[in-house]
Amino acid sequence: MASSFSIVPTIAPGVNGASSKSKKKADLPRLSELSPDDKPWDTHGQNSQSLMCVFSEGDDWQQRKSERMEWCGRRLTFAVSQEGRHKLKSAQFCRIRLCPRCVWRRSLAWKARWYQAWPEIQKIAPKARYFHLVLTVPNVPVTELRDTILKMSNAWKRMVSRKTWPALGFVRATEVTIEKDREGYVHPHFHCLVMVSTSYFSKRYMTAEDWRAYWAKGLGVEPETLTKPYIRAVDPKGGVDAVAAAVKEVFKYAVKGIGMNPDDDGSWVPTLLEMDRQLKGTQATSLGGLIREVFRGNEDISEEEMMAHKDDPDFEAEQYWEYVWNFVDRWYERSRILGAEETAALKAKDEERDQKKAAHAAPLPEPIRADEGTRTDWDLNRTGLRLMAEDLVPERAKKTRKRRAERRSELDDSS
Ligand SMILES: [Zn+2]
Repeated sequence: MASSFSIVPTIAPGVNGASSKSKKKADLPRLSELSPDDKPWDTHGQNSQSLMCVFSEGDDWQQRKSERMEWCGRRLTFAVSQEGRHKLKSAQFCRIRLCPRCVWRRSLAWKARWYQAWPEIQKIAPKARYFHLVLTVPNVPVTELRDTILKMSNAWKRMVSRKTWPALGFVRATEVTIEKDREGYVHPHFHCLVMVSTSYFSKRYMTAEDWRAYWAKGLGVEPETLTKPYIRAVDPKGGVDAVAAAVKEVFKYAVKGIGMNPDDDGSWVPTLLEMDRQLKGTQATSLGGLIREVFRGNEDISEEEMMAHKDDPDFEAEQYWEYVWNFVDRWYERSRILGAEETAALKAKDEERDQKKAAHAAPLPEPIRADEGTRTDWDLNRTGLRLMAEDLVPERAKKTRKRRAERRSELDDSS
């Protein structure tokens, strides 16, 4: 599973040597030594540098992206506590869809979003359960990737608009891997975190086989042509930590398995470049149902969010340290410790930002309350909300279920 693609030095020696002027300075302390928790910065930075090299081999558009990636995360400023704990304070990201550094930061941001929204989620759907679902289609030539993703998105839309759709909400990410056996073939799939009511597990449970049939119906193909979906329930005892970890997993990769190992021949490079062109304009993330409500339909992660850190209320900044990416050794190293004046300015900026954040925290729409019956601003016709209402008002649930059963026998549910 490790996305360990290290650089292929033969790909673009020119770009790799971008910092040739920083030849051999005295050894600077490394980020991974001063803050072992921040070791992933090095790994993702290495992958990002590899992709930067690949893009420099591409068309004009990709070469421009390569130049942008050169600046991605190049300089990081961390606040450092007395005990040496680090907290990221400023960074610039290229925000390129496939950039491994940005993909990683986005996955962390989604995790952070979940922690932030958790109290509201608990208010709206306290008993909701979650599972990770991966839906795939057979591998396709990379030149058909865009059409395939479009087909998958349409199939998904058909699937969630069916009366029998069992979920309260979802968040979905698109991931593409490059096939190892056949050159030029790719494997697109959807990673989803699905939110369901408790009754899903007791009454409406769908096995992997059921999900395959459901997905096949959306795609308009025979179930046998698809591999069985991967399903993994999130342990309800794990609370927000377990759900947030699953969310991060959903967003873990945009592209995986591109085998950028030093011993490989780089034969996948043209495929990756074409894959990047094909992905242009396709949807990377999709939100639905209650999850969409909670995040107000906001599928994009802002640069501010990409700096997300897990809440550390006791953290007190003592100093500010600046790190830079070393393109030759491919790690982060500390370039300087900020002086008193800059430190004071940054501290003031931090406080201002915290206050602003508190002031702008938009209130969520009112949750449905049992005593209010169907009065709500939300569209109650939506399956997710209807199911949720059932969980809250058992008497009404019984009626709805009865009504639905009657309708089903009338209509022969084929939608
Ligand atoms: Zn980036």
